[in-house]
Amino acid sequence: MNTVQENLKQIQQDINAAAAKTGRNSEDITLLAVTKYVTIERTEEAVDAGIVDLGENRIEGFLEKQAVIGEKAVWHFIGSLQTRKVKDVINQVDYLHALDRLSLAKEIQKRAAKKIKCFVQINVSGEVTKSGVSPDETLAFIQQLAEFPAIEVVGLMTMAPNTEKEDVLRSVFSGLRQLRDEVKAAGMLHAPCTFLSMGMSNDYTIAIEEGATHIRVGSALVGPYK
Ligand SMILES: *Cc1c(COP(=O)(O)O)cnc(C)c1O
Repeated sequence: MNTVQENLKQIQQDINAAAAKTGRNSEDITLLAVTKYVTIERTEEAVDAGIVDLGENRIEGFLEKQAVIGEKAVWHFIGSLQTRKVKDVINQVDYLHALDRLSLAKEIQKRAAKKIKCFVQINVSGEVTKSGVSPDETLAFIQQLAEFPAIEVVGLMTMAPNTEKEDVLRSVFSGLRQLRDEVKAAGMLHAPCTFLSMGMSNDYTIAIEEGATHIRVGSALVGPYK
């Protein structure tokens, strides 16, 4: 197995190349290490290699790793969050990537002791197995979030289909970017919506070319775990 440092070097080169290709500044792209299937030791190795942003999709793993690593990292919760578990984790989260329903927003409002930076998850591909707000309902959904002062919509997030087809991936990513542009243009105080969380191990270069500001990379960075 490669060291995280070796993987990181390759990924950083890819980020730089994809950014250069599209006239972007690679410093505008945040690399999240998704550590959901790896040990605390491997996660610490990532932090020692210079990774700052960590993503977990389960509360248990999130809290376990945060207890050890603490403020050396910025903490992203990237998984779907059950309403009844919001209280267990929400005030420990720096960024929530999967706000996908009003009942969740309501519970966050009830439990949050600070403003919570949220990405709204959008089901761009329309696959029935994926959660997320449908593209048609995105603007109205985000308008409704104005009722919840604890929620700041910093961006949109999507999961692309599990496919190698570049045209499919590109259309999903560019679809999310267009939606982001619409929401941003609406100029809502509670929804600056500047960020785009999209791209994983298999498709992060395409995501960057299509405007990703946050890529969520697990297996290619800290794996293998597939
Ligand atoms: C697991 C996961 C990732 C990372 O997936 P890899 O293919 O291992 O890079 C990214 N985002 C979410 C929401 C995940 O659950």
